[in-house]
Amino acid sequence: MIISSAKPFEEILLSLDRYDDIFVIGCNVCAAKLHLGGEPEVLDMCECLRNAGKNVVGWILPTAACSVQSWESLVEKNPAIEDARAILVMGCGSGTSVVASVVDVPVYSSNDTTSLGGLSNDVVLHDQCAMCGKCIIADFGGVCPTTQCAKGLLNGPCGGSMNGRCEVDRETDCAWELIYKRLKIIGRLDLLDELHEPKEH
Ligand code: SF4
Ligand code: SF4
Repeated sequence: MIISSAKPFEEILLSLDRYDDIFVIGCNVCAAKLHLGGEPEVLDMCECLRNAGKNVVGWILPTAACSVQSWESLVEKNPAIEDARAILVMGCGSGTSVVASVVDVPVYSSNDTTSLGGLSNDVVLHDQCAMCGKCIIADFGGVCPTTQCAKGLLNGPCGGSMNGRCEVDRETDCAWELIYKRLKIIGRLDLLDELHEPKEH
């Protein structure tokens, strides 16, 4: 099981500062077991967001946030997601990353992912989340550089990126190319101006 802890609500609210129409996606596996993303927590989050003045357009509880297959599968579960300007994932970094890969709006995580703690269905998505304990994946459009950049660079690409490929493995996309594309799609290239301090591991 992947272990996470809840971010303070004030921090979540601050991250959603510029968006009013929010859609919440829970996780009925690890996060539900930890009481961080099951139905009671999702409903509680929706109420807290509404009380804070947000328009919660809807919510869903997939089997696991990291098992989301496509945008169409999300719409099928609740078409209200089409009205969302931002999505809050109440799951781990992997789940947040997977959701971000199929939507065209900013995606935020309500949790910080801290450790593996075991396996979930015998699958660990190492390439999506390194369980660093301080999830800032939303700052990168849902593509985690800690995990997907070979050097874990948090403040832009190294000098070796060429034609969108990583210098460590030319068969692999440069994570910062993916981050740039994602931020452009969601209209948040301004996030490239933010500087990130090294993580406190
Ligand atoms: S920042 Fe990256 S490694 Fe850290 S919890 Fe979020 S997705 Fe995982
Ligand atoms: S080329 Fe891109 S993914 Fe590879 S190490 Fe440099 S910044 Fe990271």
